[in-house]
Amino acid sequence: MPNDIRFALHGGAGSPSPEMDVAEQRAALRRIADEALALLRDGGSALDAVERAVVRLEECPLFNAGVGAVLNSDGAPELDAAIMDGRSRACGAIAGVCRVESPVRLARAVMEKSPHVMFLGAGAEAFARELGMKEVSPDHFVTELRFRQLKAAHAKGAILLDHDGGGTVGAVARDAHGHLAAATSTGGLTNKRPGRVGDTPVIGAGTFADDETCAVSCTGSGESFIRAVAGHHVHARLQFSRWTLPQACEEALMLVKRYGGDGGCIAVDREGTLALPFNSRAMFRAWAGADGVVHVAVGRDEA
Ligand code: ASP
Repeated sequence: MPNDIRFALHGGAGSPSPEMDVAEQRAALRRIADEALALLRDGGSALDAVERAVVRLEECPLFNAGVGAVLNSDGAPELDAAIMDGRSRACGAIAGVCRVESPVRLARAVMEKSPHVMFLGAGAEAFARELGMKEVSPDHFVTELRFRQLKAAHAKGAILLDHDGGGTVGAVARDAHGHLAAATSTGGLTNKRPGRVGDTPVIGAGTFADDETCAVSCTGSGESFIRAVAGHHVHARLQFSRWTLPQACEEALMLVKRYGGDGGCIAVDREGTLALPFNSRAMFRAWAGADGVVHVAVGRDEA
């Protein structure tokens, strides 16, 4: 029987120092990829698989999304997330929230239960409340590590990508029916200005899916990914230039570089090709291709 199912997730691009122990992050990536793959094998949709994986990554304090999100310059978490269904290009996104337990679940609710695509801050939280979604206090997301990282960033006067641990999270999937989906969730950048929004919830920049071409989830310097319109750029190369997925992703990252940033993306195309390129030092990632086996990697090589 042909194996049509594909899955990939990322836990952020960055540059963990070579001596840093990332065993915990790797174990979490494997566990979460296994769970998403099982869901797809049970006949679950690509949309359900990417949502489930991102919810689990948000729950895990090792990554910059949900619990463990980085803090803005005021010391507060401001969370962004998006999800997109390749079947119809239905999509939902939220930005600057700090009171909903799962930003990606709220993004999906925006997609399915509102006539809109994107909600912001207090309005997003009011919508979540109306739907009876679980509310938490902003402290729910704050960890000791992110507090220390903010202090260090304050001292340097720098705005930082989550360079030395797990970062932004995302997932892409192709289900047994050939449908594609993508989801991404993040706390953004350490010491960012309050109100700053990155590429993650911007449909076509950090998150994009279309069954005709591909599903893409990005991580890295959000401003550069927005300027490159990275996710949609990959789609456009497949649609209009008939490029391969790896070629299209490489070019998108070259544009990101040209516009001053770095990072990576994970992508799957309609034929089931996977691409997980990055031009930062590392990208936390896991994937299952035609072999149906979960692979995990952080640096250049799978180890
Ligand atoms: N792309 C995210 C942002 O700019 C950050 C990241 O991927 O680490 O908000």
